[in-house]
Amino acid sequence: MQDVLQSLGIPATDEPLSGVYAGGWVASPGGDTMSTTNPTTGATLGLVANGGAADYEACVGSAQEAFLRWRLLPAPQRGEYVRRCGEALRAKKEELGALVTLEMGKIRAEGEGEVQEMIDIADFAVGLSRQLYGKTMHSERPGHRMYEQWHPLGPIGIISAFNFPVAVWSWNAFIAAVCGDTMIWKPSELTPLCAIAVQNIVNEVMEPDGFGGVFNLCCGTAQPVGETMIADRRLPLISATGSVRMGKRVGEVVGGRLGRSLLELGGNNALLVMDDANLDLALSAVLFGAVGTAGQRCTTTRRVLLHESVAETFTKRLVDAYGQVRIGDPLEGTTLMGPLIHEGSVETMLAAVESVKRAGGEILCGGERATVAGCEGGHFVKPTIARVSADFPLLKEETFAPLVYLVTVSDLDQAIALQNDVPQGLSSAVFTTGVQSAERFLGHAGSDCGIANVNIGTSGAEIGGAFGGEKDTGGGREAGSDSWKAYMRRQTCTINYTDELPLAQGIRFGPA
Ligand code: NAD
Repeated sequence: MQDVLQSLGIPATDEPLSGVYAGGWVASPGGDTMSTTNPTTGATLGLVANGGAADYEACVGSAQEAFLRWRLLPAPQRGEYVRRCGEALRAKKEELGALVTLEMGKIRAEGEGEVQEMIDIADFAVGLSRQLYGKTMHSERPGHRMYEQWHPLGPIGIISAFNFPVAVWSWNAFIAAVCGDTMIWKPSELTPLCAIAVQNIVNEVMEPDGFGGVFNLCCGTAQPVGETMIADRRLPLISATGSVRMGKRVGEVVGGRLGRSLLELGGNNALLVMDDANLDLALSAVLFGAVGTAGQRCTTTRRVLLHESVAETFTKRLVDAYGQVRIGDPLEGTTLMGPLIHEGSVETMLAAVESVKRAGGEILCGGERATVAGCEGGHFVKPTIARVSADFPLLKEETFAPLVYLVTVSDLDQAIALQNDVPQGLSSAVFTTGVQSAERFLGHAGSDCGIANVNIGTSGAEIGGAFGGEKDTGGGREAGSDSWKAYMRRQTCTINYTDELPLAQGIRFGPA
């Protein structure tokens, strides 16, 4: 593993690594020193020096200075830099994927998948750099032309969560970069090495041409770095990914200064299995959706709503499939489920299991810690299926762990109502072979989520669509489609090419 770290510019040292890049690595950041841990073994991976007040100021200064030059570069040229960042990531896909596995605990295939997502969004952003289209309108006044154009917004702040330690940054950063913005990234305090590695990779592309200050990094915790960032009027946009609790705070502070926030928060995603579903498909979708990333995706399947006619068969098959999930070191190719991020997550899951039992629900499998030989310090649990009634209170909460609730329903109407009856609104799915059920699920009275799928599970979105959710999920949209508009400011322009000055709405003003 030392080779992997070194190839990503992370030296083997007992000294704290700099967690601050302000157009150049800051040699000795003034914040506290934080250790980062391998969730598989509990071993310390390294020490990182966080940003202090002066370091944060240096990041803002760097982003502001770079913005003055970056915004003047034609967008397709900005796209060329992002294209080369994508190439640099391609060259380091395996190594960066392995580091994601090491620091976050997702399995190798998912770690590399996350880097692939960065490459995909880079490709998308390159194309986008030639498609930042504005509309033209027909003016109501003769001899006038009217159109909308989009300008770069400024230096922006990106706050990311531990569970996607590299991809979420790129969804924001590569789109923002082609839009002409510069940025400061505050990664999760649980995954700073991944952020340092990403910074090193993009530096190879940006630094030689004096554009290092487009992407800046300020490692640190919510207080002081995060709070300083969200209150900073010099950052017109804060894009924040994480828990609903965090998003409410960010929304309040950024809204209080009339800034713009893009919030990507927790989900509580339901998968509906109807009486006419292809059960093989539904089974695979639930397995990946609920067990993948050890249940630590915002799009993880948390609730499976089963039509009463298939409930028994499906439940039995699902319990069998769970019995075959290989829990282990995520670096090993045969492992299907790695550890949770820390002990706190294990305890939260076990507390939810106790709540199920107290409420009269049934734990059909799992419900306890798992031990993995050679990884005694790791935070392993068994993937868990709980059968609960529709009024079980925790159905409305996101427990960030591989704990899925099964609820039996009698028809599609009840399933849709139950699905929507939670505070969150990120992802949703129905399994049906009937066009009527599918269309009702997708219709105005159907799923209220930002993502609604038919015969595809709740997790594993493609980057081409806009990604995000409603209600407590925060309402933000990132990645594809027209999400880029969040990173730009819109301007409506009217040009008069006559010698008259007609007013809009036919108003006459002046001496008769
Ligand atoms: P978290 O809310 O604990 O932390 C996320 C980030 O917010 C971290 O960088 C943290 O330091 C920062 N933060 C927390 N409080 C802050 C404050 N007051 N000011 C500024 N920054 C602050 O979340 P987590 O445990 O890292 O991630 C898991 C959560 O993220 C889950 O709820 C998951 O559903 C959600 N998530 C959502 C999406 C999405 O796109 N909707 C994607 C990934 C994760």
